[in-house]
Amino acid sequence: MFILEYKLKGKQHQYQAIDEAIHTVQFVRNKCLRYWEDNKGVGQKDIYKYTTELRSEYSFVKELNSTACQQACERTWTAILAFYNNCKINIPGKKGYPKYSKRTHSVEFKKSGWKLNRDAKKITFTDGKNIGELKLIGSRDLFYFQEWQIQRVRIVKRADGYFVQLLLKLDIRDITPSLEPTRKCVGLDMGLKYLYADSDNNMVEPPRYYRQAEKRLNKLNRRKSKKFKRGKKQSNNYIKARRQYAKGHLKVSRQREEFAKRLALRLIQSNDLIAYEDLKVKNLVHNKKLAKSINDAGWSKLRKWIEYFGVKYGRLTIAVNPAYTSQECFNCGQLIKKSLSVRTHICSCGYCEDRDTMAALNILKKATIGHIGSWSEDLNAWGDSTSILVGSNTCQDKLSQ
Ligand SMILES: [Zn+2]
Repeated sequence: MFILEYKLKGKQHQYQAIDEAIHTVQFVRNKCLRYWEDNKGVGQKDIYKYTTELRSEYSFVKELNSTACQQACERTWTAILAFYNNCKINIPGKKGYPKYSKRTHSVEFKKSGWKLNRDAKKITFTDGKNIGELKLIGSRDLFYFQEWQIQRVRIVKRADGYFVQLLLKLDIRDITPSLEPTRKCVGLDMGLKYLYADSDNNMVEPPRYYRQAEKRLNKLNRRKSKKFKRGKKQSNNYIKARRQYAKGHLKVSRQREEFAKRLALRLIQSNDLIAYEDLKVKNLVHNKKLAKSINDAGWSKLRKWIEYFGVKYGRLTIAVNPAYTSQECFNCGQLIKKSLSVRTHICSCGYCEDRDTMAALNILKKATIGHIGSWSEDLNAWGDSTSILVGSNTCQDKLSQ
């Protein structure tokens, strides 16, 4: 799947029509969830049938394109299934009981309900919600794919406007030139003070976008709170302040995304193989003391983009079990226990190295054991998998090291 995004430009009444469509999506989702809660043993088919009932009962549901309606119902079903699954495998902690949504911000169409005009760069929504024709703002050309490749069309509402996403089914490798082999590989060790240390003794500082914006965000938040009136209808000034605050957050998240994307691309362009730890950041973030730094570091974003570009350019990306990477001697394999404050690895075999650099070296070693000398053949054999897991995942080890 490949996503193309454009900003939508239209008239005020068209935006209102989009809001109305999004609101209907939320209505359908919540109704389906209620139906599942009220009727024991409800299956996928029943819930789909129920959507048809809703369409005949409520005219505003009927106005929404039928595939969008279906999509709303499918989303609920996916959430229910995920919950069932979590219960079945009995994951620790919360099982993710499906929630009623209060702030839906998108509506998704399948193959009908919209029409794309590629020459004029416009899209028309043709269902009963009367959204009509909107202009697409964005530099990406609309001609390098076929129309049948559009699987979904999604309208997303954000703090700074309305956007449309075209979900394309295409092999991204078809449209990107392949890269020359670099004969280089790298291991990355995720840090708290830095984003990562690599096996060549480089450290990359995490971007501090949130810290930089914190003062301004706090100010905007205070302004918003001051205008809030409990139990009354909110004023336009409050709504304006709330939008400003949301915009501030949006800016930070875009900056982070952009940073991770650029860094990942550079790593992929200059290495044939990238090895990193298979850390579940979600689990690490539960540690309150560390949460802010890890969030700031944006490691999961970086990993996502490394894997994305890895597939795109046909490079190997390997996630390894993070256990013992900073304790095991890279030279002789001996375990040297050390607390987090000890920054240098010194071994009786005479090997001495910066703690983080050595961890990165160990990560690279774990990734390449059994693969050395056969990377190019492996490349084809791995096919589409975005990342390869070596060993089992024991993300907790990282913290206890
Ligand atoms: Zn040693």
